[in-house]
Amino acid sequence: MRLEGSFEVDQPANFVWRKVKDPNLMAGCIPGCQNVEQLDEKNYRADVLVTIGIIRASFNLNIEVIKEIENLELQSRTTGQEGTQASIISSENTLSLKAISEQKTKLEFSSEVTISGRLGKYGLGIIKKSALKMADEFAANFSRAIETGSAKVSTEPIILPKTSIWHKILEFLGMYRAIPFGKSNIEKKDPQKFSQTDILLNPSSISDAIEMLVANQHRVPIAGGATLVAMLNANLIDPAGLVNLKGLAELSGISRNSSGEVKIGALSRHAETAESDLLIGGLSGLKDAAQKIANPIVRNMGTMGGSVAFADPAADYIPALVAADAEIEIASSGELSRLPIRDFFVDWYKTVLKPGEIISALYLPKPNKLAMGHHEKFARVEGDYATASVNIILSMKGKTCDSIKLAVGACGPMPVRLLDVEKRLEGSDLSETLLLKAGNELADACDPTDDVRGTADYRRKLVPQLVICAVQNAQKKLLERRPT
Ligand SMILES: Cc1cc2nc3c(=O)[nH]c(=O)nc-3n(C[C@H](O)[C@H](O)[C@H](O)COP(=O)(O)OP(=O)(O)OC[C@H]3O[C@@H](n4cnc5c(N)ncnc54)[C@H](O)[C@@H]3O)c2cc1C
Repeated sequence: MRLEGSFEVDQPANFVWRKVKDPNLMAGCIPGCQNVEQLDEKNYRADVLVTIGIIRASFNLNIEVIKEIENLELQSRTTGQEGTQASIISSENTLSLKAISEQKTKLEFSSEVTISGRLGKYGLGIIKKSALKMADEFAANFSRAIETGSAKVSTEPIILPKTSIWHKILEFLGMYRAIPFGKSNIEKKDPQKFSQTDILLNPSSISDAIEMLVANQHRVPIAGGATLVAMLNANLIDPAGLVNLKGLAELSGISRNSSGEVKIGALSRHAETAESDLLIGGLSGLKDAAQKIANPIVRNMGTMGGSVAFADPAADYIPALVAADAEIEIASSGELSRLPIRDFFVDWYKTVLKPGEIISALYLPKPNKLAMGHHEKFARVEGDYATASVNIILSMKGKTCDSIKLAVGACGPMPVRLLDVEKRLEGSDLSETLLLKAGNELADACDPTDDVRGTADYRRKLVPQLVICAVQNAQKKLLERRPT
């Protein structure tokens, strides 16, 4: 995998060279670099912390300077491994300086990176995307450091965009199988592990839970535990404590309010959502998504709030909630606020949730009883996460489309919906030609990566076909419901 780029700074080349040779300044510019230590004249050691949602992965790197041409070029070799030893990383790097004028220097960098082990196997595409982001961030930090004369060693971990490779890694490590059904294994943990995770707190109310989270921002809420316990077992996270939401009745249940909205409490298990009688008409696409999650064990364990908070782009609820124009309710100190679900997801596994906040419920608009929902999930085998999915809400007037909502999942950091495409399909006969065109437009708007479930290219090719299948299956369900 080759990474390259360039940027310019308003300083002469000899000044920039001195900065390039300053290990502390360089470390301060590398996103997530926590420590740097000079071992001898040519060798350095650095720790780089990567944050993926709530996962913190630490990379121990050795950097050897292999060639220096003063004021012109620095060549180095980086070797190292990720803390869990799941992956070995090595790279050959070149940083060149070109004087553009007496006061302007162009820096060109290139890196040939090799990643073996599980990250290499499953996550090359996403790693490349993240590395390109890191390179941009490094360039911005370095330019700023040159202007201000110094760089503060970053304590903020970088945000590494990702797909569900981590799930795959955990599966590979056998961690998912280690989860006892219906019960957290926190009490039975290996004393070697979770050294700081000795506290399982049981709040008596939402405000109590918020207080516990605010009192120590390194505590995290736990709901079904399907994902969190696996991450703890794999030492991918090391929270200061777990705030157990399980006993909070305020977060439970699926109900309809006086305005007809359906409220799904954050603690509702996928099995409850999959069986709810309130998810009818257009909302049946969410019910269908719940029915297609993994297997009965996971559906009895995982919760709506946990799935949405973890924000795995491959999660089935995410496109379904976006298609349904759901709103999410967030509880923070002293208040409850609601925002449209499409504003909740901000990047790969990243949401607007801040420490000390929890999801309390999801609200779905009053169902259109004449509409039909459907979740078209394409997975390698039944029970796997989606390679790609399309969630649809459709209503027809005879053979003409009355309204259509289409949300694509697992094809980028966030689900994709194109309102103008939907508008164009409304009033049409939903011919295959029109659907193919719409599907291609949706595919173009996606930003998928390569992983074990498929390449980015494969995913883009799947989207139009899934759109056609989603429409056909929704139409079939409409006909079955109202036989003529
Ligand atoms: C083997 C396996 C297969 C799976 N397959 C699929 C699949 O095919 N499709 C799919 O969509 N999903 C799948 N999942 C994910 C699963 O559906 C759960 O949604 C997911 O594990 C998280 O739900 P949870 O309640 O267990 O959350 P937890 O594991 O308890 O928590 C997950 C994260 O959410 C946070 N959190 C939990 N609740 C809240 C809250 N109310 N507010 C704020 N933060 C909160 C936690 O702090 C943690 O960061 C799979 C999981 C497993 C283990």
